[in-house]
Amino acid sequence: MSAPNYIILCHGGAGEVRSGKEKIVEEGVREAVIKGFSKLKSNGSALDAVEECVKTMEDNPNFNAGTGSVLTMKGTIEMDASISDGRTLNSGAVAMISNIRHPVSLARMVMEKTDHVLVVGESAEKIAGIFGLETCDPKTPERVEMWRQAKKRFEKGELNYLPKTMSLIKLFPDLTETVGAVAVDINGDCAAATSTGGLMLKLPGRLGDTPIIGAGNYADGKSAVSCTGIGEVAIRLCLAKTACEYIEAGQPAHESANHCIDLVKTKQRGLHMGVVTVDKNCNYGLAHNTKNLVWALQTKEMSAPMSGMKYPPK
Ligand code: ASP
Repeated sequence: MSAPNYIILCHGGAGEVRSGKEKIVEEGVREAVIKGFSKLKSNGSALDAVEECVKTMEDNPNFNAGTGSVLTMKGTIEMDASISDGRTLNSGAVAMISNIRHPVSLARMVMEKTDHVLVVGESAEKIAGIFGLETCDPKTPERVEMWRQAKKRFEKGELNYLPKTMSLIKLFPDLTETVGAVAVDINGDCAAATSTGGLMLKLPGRLGDTPIIGAGNYADGKSAVSCTGIGEVAIRLCLAKTACEYIEAGQPAHESANHCIDLVKTKQRGLHMGVVTVDKNCNYGLAHNTKNLVWALQTKEMSAPMSGMKYPPK
């Protein structure tokens, strides 16, 4: 029998990386994967690893999650996050969070400290207060400036509003930068976590796929999946759960990711997604129909992470 392996794979969003930001975002995913990997290395659970990895990206203002989240049409912050424990099928999610430093940890609190799966808005923030989670102002000057410019174009009629998300994403290709991680620990247990500020100029109150378990995030006894892109697409296709079902049916992790993107191409033509998958045997998959999907991964056999701006790397 071969020695047990472990793996963590993370993404920093599907879209087009802003020119000049290439190095900084790739460094960001590498740093996050190293943090998550250190949990796995010290026999931590896959759940601890994905939380740590996503927290690191939530603190990095170059990603659209936690600090640096994009703004709604009203100029407010509404962050979504979720976490899934494949051992138990337990999941936790939060949405419409405005002032919590690590929304992914709040999602974990919902999973572990409440009887619920999804809690939103002020009520979720109250739970954060009860359990002493740190608050912060996630609005950065850079995002406020991006929002001003997007708003101007919108008011001039240069942007089609949702559901014309496609045009919006074409004009502002850097709107994504959502973060996510999937991992398998030394026991073969799988977990997934995803966190986002959502889509720039989204309607206040809009929830994307990230807090919808089975759409943007899912883990079961055999695999874990995190999705990024146009949330409405992943919700319509129940994409994360679909990817896990492909693996349950015997597909390798990479084929499952590819099949999900094929599904997007055929059933949601012209719309954009990225998917990352792992299975309990530490196989992995990445697929996207965007210009970029920033990613990093590390397995037990690797002394340093591998990373890239697209997959397969060129
Ligand atoms: N899926 C996220 C949402 O629709 C956005 C993203 O992945 O960039 O809220």
